[in-house]
Amino acid sequence: MIIAGPCSITTKESALRDAQFLSDIGVQYFRGGIFKPRTNPHSFQGIGLEGLDILNEIKKETKIKIVTEIVDIRHIPYFENVDIIQVGSRNCQNFELLKELAKFGSTVLLKRGFGMTVDEFIDAAEYLKEYGLKDYQIILCERGIKTFENSTRNTLDLSAVPILKAKTNYKIIVDPSHGTGRRDLVVPMSKAAIAGTADGLLIECTKYPDTSITDAMQTIGYDKMSEIVNFYNKYKNLF
Ligand code: PEP
Ligand code: MN
Repeated sequence: MIIAGPCSITTKESALRDAQFLSDIGVQYFRGGIFKPRTNPHSFQGIGLEGLDILNEIKKETKIKIVTEIVDIRHIPYFENVDIIQVGSRNCQNFELLKELAKFGSTVLLKRGFGMTVDEFIDAAEYLKEYGLKDYQIILCERGIKTFENSTRNTLDLSAVPILKAKTNYKIIVDPSHGTGRRDLVVPMSKAAIAGTADGLLIECTKYPDTSITDAMQTIGYDKMSEIVNFYNKYKNLF
């Protein structure tokens, strides 16, 4: 599976343009953040629940499936039409949120906490299973961990992918955008992830990446996105 879209939803116009492009090149899931868990409270926090209306309209108009992040347990009922609900790195061990999402019953994309071991990640996913989700409704995402290395935003731990695949029956995907924080590394690390047996990718992509309100440095444009999709289609069954 390939999940892609802008880090943040800003306007319907730009989100719809990206969703239409992604759908046209065969991407099945459009992802756009409406709640952004920012390190600094003065940074843009996302457009909030009104973004759900934009996502729902995009879904109707393009038929692409929708992925977006939840940050607040009280919002769960509003996420009825979201095809895959993302739980971000910072909430990976928010166990009450995980329990309630599991009871709600939608597919969950759980991103690895940036300070968590692989086994802790598996334990977090176990909450989803224990409280009601089936294995096929759980998607785990390697998104990089904190290390001493500072040439990248995080250290993308690709070896976690085959380990998670050996230890669980979940889909395992890779986010090279947050995993590296660098636009120039997104294509090579996407290819490495596919060769490293990942079941899919999560990519930040928009038409004018430099103008992105969040995560511009790691967001790719349409050309690089097409290159990733072509590589994925060619090699996904080889590994
Ligand atoms: C995101 O996916 O936009 C995000 C905030 O990622 P993470 O939770 O991995 O930091
Ligand atoms: Mn982002």
